[in-house]
Amino acid sequence: MKKEVVLGIDLGGTYTKLGLVTKTGCILNNSRFDTNARMPFQDFLKKLESEVNDLKSNLGPEQQLIRIGIGAPNANPQSGNMENPPNFKWGRSVPLAKSVEKIFDLPVVLTNDANAAALGEMEYGLGKGMKNFVVLTLGTGLGGGIINNGELLTGEHGMAAELGHVNVDSNPNARQCNCGLKGCLETYVSVTGIRRTIFELIAEMTDDSPLRSISFDEMTGEIISDAALEGDTIALRAFEQTAEALGIQLADTAAHLDPEAFILLGGLSKAGDILLKPTIDAMERKLFNAYKGRIKVLISKTPSENAILGPAALAWNVEH
Ligand SMILES: [Zn+2]
Repeated sequence: MKKEVVLGIDLGGTYTKLGLVTKTGCILNNSRFDTNARMPFQDFLKKLESEVNDLKSNLGPEQQLIRIGIGAPNANPQSGNMENPPNFKWGRSVPLAKSVEKIFDLPVVLTNDANAAALGEMEYGLGKGMKNFVVLTLGTGLGGGIINNGELLTGEHGMAAELGHVNVDSNPNARQCNCGLKGCLETYVSVTGIRRTIFELIAEMTDDSPLRSISFDEMTGEIISDAALEGDTIALRAFEQTAEALGIQLADTAAHLDPEAFILLGGLSKAGDILLKPTIDAMERKLFNAYKGRIKVLISKTPSENAILGPAALAWNVEH
């Protein structure tokens, strides 16, 4: 019998990562290319086709590619489309699943990137053995993925767990979110959110800081994390505020779902304990008594280059 493999594709705003993955989560070979989200969708498909064919040419005669799993921003598993992806110039509704299916003549399963990450953690990461947990991806935006009773919670419209867009500030002057609403969690708790906090603090505080000479666009999550690790008072204050908002939200989400754990991923989670400790403190302060001391908050150990494991888990998950 042939050894079956799936292709996992992690489609991001900057890079697209892809790789062939076995059932046990072994990455046979993988690659990465620039997504070029501002170029036409057809250009992306052409590049994807040639990259996939390169990977396939390395397969042995005993190996067979059976399915493709894709994680992408704003992807809807029901329609197979990316719906209004901000930061992409590919149109309002991008027929991603159908287009990829047509090129490779293989079944394609699609979900949003954070849901794919939740499946990846369940199959191959910290969620192994857990039946109820929530993944939060703290990158450019904030994505959520909920595993409920061992399965991904999809919701009525395929759009469950949009945790980035719960309201945390009902003030009319609250921060404007890309989604059109104001006061969304991701305007505070994401790389973009903490950048906004840093610039507010630079205006409010008089402390010296190397962050003062960095422009908004150049200020990455890594630069902010490194500054905090070196004891920069503005960066540390920004992490305190971010952790406070995140911890309160986790307490709220716990009241809805009673999870075993929250697993944090993405650029902001690289700050480690600087984010984790105050987040746990804030969560515990706000938790309903029944949950106090019983819910873990963890930082994912999946390196970002292995992000294809999520979409691969999605492709394998179809068989369950
Ligand atoms: Zn929003």
